[in-house]
Amino acid sequence: MKSKITGLILAGGRGTRMGRVDKGLQPFRGTTMIAHVLRRLAPQVDTVAINANRNLPQYQAAAGADTVVMPDQMSGFEGPLAGLQAGLHYCATELLLTAPCDSPFLPADLAARLYAALETENADLAVAVTMETDEQDGGAPYRQPHPVFSLLKASLLPQLEAYLATGARRVEGWHKSLRVAEVMFDDASAFRNINTLEELKRHEPEAATPAATPVPAASPAGDPDALPVDEARRLIAQRVTPVAATEKVAVCSALDRVLAEDIISPINVPAYDNSAMDGYALRGADLPLDAGAGPVTLKVIGAAYAGRPFEKTAAPGECVRIMTGAAMPPGCDSVLPQELAAAIGESSVTIAHGTIRAGANRRFAGEDLTAGGVALARGKIMRPADLGLVASLGIAEVTVRRRLRVAFFSTGDELRSLGDTLDTGCVYDSNRYTLFGMLTRLGCEVVDLGIVRDDPAALQAALRSACREADAIITSGGVSEGAADYTRDIMALLGDVAFWKLAMRPGRPLAFGEVRTGDGAAWLFGLPGNPVAVMVSFYLFARPALLRMMGVDEARTMPQTTRARATEAIRKRPGRTEYQRGIVSTGVDGGAQVRLTGAQGSGILSSMTEANCIVVLRHGQAGVAVGDPVDIILFDGLI
Ligand code: AMP
Ligand code: MG
Repeated sequence: MKSKITGLILAGGRGTRMGRVDKGLQPFRGTTMIAHVLRRLAPQVDTVAINANRNLPQYQAAAGADTVVMPDQMSGFEGPLAGLQAGLHYCATELLLTAPCDSPFLPADLAARLYAALETENADLAVAVTMETDEQDGGAPYRQPHPVFSLLKASLLPQLEAYLATGARRVEGWHKSLRVAEVMFDDASAFRNINTLEELKRHEPEAATPAATPVPAASPAGDPDALPVDEARRLIAQRVTPVAATEKVAVCSALDRVLAEDIISPINVPAYDNSAMDGYALRGADLPLDAGAGPVTLKVIGAAYAGRPFEKTAAPGECVRIMTGAAMPPGCDSVLPQELAAAIGESSVTIAHGTIRAGANRRFAGEDLTAGGVALARGKIMRPADLGLVASLGIAEVTVRRRLRVAFFSTGDELRSLGDTLDTGCVYDSNRYTLFGMLTRLGCEVVDLGIVRDDPAALQAALRSACREADAIITSGGVSEGAADYTRDIMALLGDVAFWKLAMRPGRPLAFGEVRTGDGAAWLFGLPGNPVAVMVSFYLFARPALLRMMGVDEARTMPQTTRARATEAIRKRPGRTEYQRGIVSTGVDGGAQVRLTGAQGSGILSSMTEANCIVVLRHGQAGVAVGDPVDIILFDGLI
């Protein structure tokens, strides 16, 4: 997806409210505002360009030499559409993603989510939308589109130019003539733009750590104390950092490990021009190119095999029998696939007019990878294709981050281990098994600390030993406010652990923070006790943080969402995020469709085994009607 998208930062405004300096160039948190936007946008797209009409050298300096900075083609500060026009002229990819230069907090999944909507809704343009509340109208919620945060097809350029030719300049007006997919983002604050010097000053301090961060005001329908899920995720992401230690491993052992260094290609791949087909290598100039030209017969002077090149130069009128992967013989630049030959003689081949173009079926040296270029970037989880790619470069060992060690235990007096008899009022401990599975799939080394009773001393001992052994600790149960929920107190005693009531379902309570003992420190994720809530909160909160600790590039830590149409109405109230278990399938129209698994109680684990995706109903979203597109997270790839 990333390779299909060019990013465009719109910095073409006059910036008058900020004095003489352009908005994008204003100093902000140690650098310029546009550098923040660039930093957030770059990992999501293939290349980034900047549209600005003044101070072009300053923008170039702020962005670095690799970024193209270009002015409008129209004159006289004609607004964002003029910048878009310039961007579309520049854009060499299928899609263009726009963001304004004064939005330093833009979401890390902006491209991914807009792309998913564009694809599933077959739209021309996808635009971000958030829910806001109208203070004038007693806090009534309304949808706020953010038209300059959009992903659009580059092929819309003629349509845009036709619109501009009518004299119209409004972005919203242009959108009316297109098929637009609206994508709801929970975190309205990510779209904040900074318009005045006073706002700039207000946002200057870096966000504080979780313990000290005031809980933001909840939305009207929600629990006033509940923290929106995006906020919790951001607070966690701000604190964790990758483990520093690395190790060198053989290519095969690097599967599912996180690359700690860029892999620079030592060679061109392929190393030489070669044939993509079995056939005849020939000189393009010998082809019967003119319309009406008769067939041409070429003399076959030898054969080239993969691994056994033909080294003589083919003269005009000559060709060489060639196999797939064989080096192109000197003088030849095109390959006629053997099945397209008009006739094949003892030592000749005949080719009719119009069969192939000059240059056809020739693979160029370096077309896969260029010597000196980054073949794989650090922060990538090594998949099978990556192992192959590394091998194709002749590299036998790669540097990966050391494995993350994660300790986990279950809390609760009612829990019984496998093999124990199940006394009245007791349940078998299932959370340790789901956690074992989820952590193992993530490639962590796991330390299973068993079941810990609802007893302060036992909890303290378990946390201390987990701290000694692991980088992170995951517990389940005991974080809500029940009479036997001691975990909270002990966690708070051993470190700075924040307890959140999250505006989500399932899985309201969550604890996060650092636990420290004399022997070590570890990040702690205190998950709720209910089995489905454990899994959902692991996937949504613990997993992104663990991936970051493993060294995964931040842009790739969030679960990927895609879209499907709901086959049933889903009830939901705004003010919290709901994760429902779904079954996605292909509908009669070939598009993805999703239904719920039925009972959605947070203790019903069978619904989790039945499901193949999680349906995400965003914070601000109300109910879903039949046929509405909804966001889904596929288990495939997640688990
Ligand atoms: P708690 O958050 O400790 O109040 O637990 C909430 C619910 O989840 C209770 O019904 C517990 O019995 C259940 N529960 C907690 N831990 C586990 C576990 N490890 N396996 C299965 N159920 C659990
Ligand atoms: Mg409990």
